[in-house]
Amino acid sequence: MPELPEVEIVTRHLRTLLTNRTITKAQLLLPKLAAENSPRQFAAGLRNAKCETVARRGKHILMHFANAKTLVAHLRMTGRFLYLDAAAENPKHTHAQFWLDNDKKLIFVDPRQFGTMHLVATAEVFVTKALSKLAPEPFGEEFTPKYLHATLKRSRQPIKLTLLDQTKVLGLGNIYASEALHRAKIHPQMSPHKLSLPRTKILQQEIIAVLNEAIANNSTMNMNPEELDGSYAGGVYESMTMVYEREGLPCLTCQTAILRFTQSGRSTYYCPTCQKR
Ligand SMILES: [Zn+2]
Repeated sequence: MPELPEVEIVTRHLRTLLTNRTITKAQLLLPKLAAENSPRQFAAGLRNAKCETVARRGKHILMHFANAKTLVAHLRMTGRFLYLDAAAENPKHTHAQFWLDNDKKLIFVDPRQFGTMHLVATAEVFVTKALSKLAPEPFGEEFTPKYLHATLKRSRQPIKLTLLDQTKVLGLGNIYASEALHRAKIHPQMSPHKLSLPRTKILQQEIIAVLNEAIANNSTMNMNPEELDGSYAGGVYESMTMVYEREGLPCLTCQTAILRFTQSGRSTYYCPTCQKR
């Protein structure tokens, strides 16, 4: 499942491919992909729509059009965009297609069908249910140690689960939450309201660092720009993770075996020596 760094990379590629291009025609093939739009509305709203830019909010990809509409897309588990010749045959599980003014088409493929799209008035994007409750962007000015400290003070869940809550801290999925806690030397089961301001500051810095490193690693990968695939980052994690999926292996700092346990149905990895409550 793509996390924020992977979605950021997909967003950057879409921005390169789509900015100043016009969608001549769009077709929604799987109606539930855009449950809040009818297929007709979807096609009408995107017909001859010129893309002004492509942005990201959390793990949502925002394609802004000159007709004052925005297409909000979420890849979820297996959603991905492909950029093909207009005449190319669509692969299996193609659920939406967008013909462009350069004899190319962008298609959305999603075998598991958890991905979502929503065509909405640009002025209303940030008040939609999906986006209005999201925490500040990790790279934005609002995500300060003070913000994080105040947010953690109010949480009654273990810190790892708090970090996964996108209304509190944005951008960390299961992998990077484990990594950020390890780097900040914080035990994943710690009560977040007990974290001191100096330790919170370290955590805030490590969250930003781990996300930045993941983006940098992905950006340098040799990837085919014609396959805007949220999964192409798959090989990156192993090269940069210090605890994730390293159960039983020695901690890279102290050699203690990395432990794994389950929190809310998801695996958490940590070093029992380095990470303190
Ligand atoms: Zn250790």
